[in-house]
Amino acid sequence: MNEDTFDERELILELFPGTSPALLPPGEVLYYRDAQGYIHIQEDPLHMVFEPIQMQPSIKPVLCEACRVQISRTTAVFVRGVVPDSGGRRFRYLTLCEDTEACRERARPEHLREILRRGILH
Ligand SMILES: [Zn+2]
Repeated sequence: MNEDTFDERELILELFPGTSPALLPPGEVLYYRDAQGYIHIQEDPLHMVFEPIQMQPSIKPVLCEACRVQISRTTAVFVRGVVPDSGGRRFRYLTLCEDTEACRERARPEHLREILRRGILH
């Protein structure tokens, strides 16, 4: 992604602050795990925070929704994030790689963006 894209995005948000994020040109997608273990996916102004949850043990491999690689249950983390503006009543559930940094290396920004938009805009 180049700088022009970011500038264009910022300019549109500055001129039209209410613009739907779905209509903005692609921005920088952040995907990281914080010190508390929460996983963040963010493309300003969209931002979701996912909390790791326990799932039933299973030996079946699962698909990481960020990097789209099939991983074993033991290297996966199941997370849930509160859908913004739902008053804490709606959640998005995801399967991700436990190793967020390695996953980020593989994950394509458009897949992360899709997770965010599915979680927030629909
Ligand atoms: Zn992954």
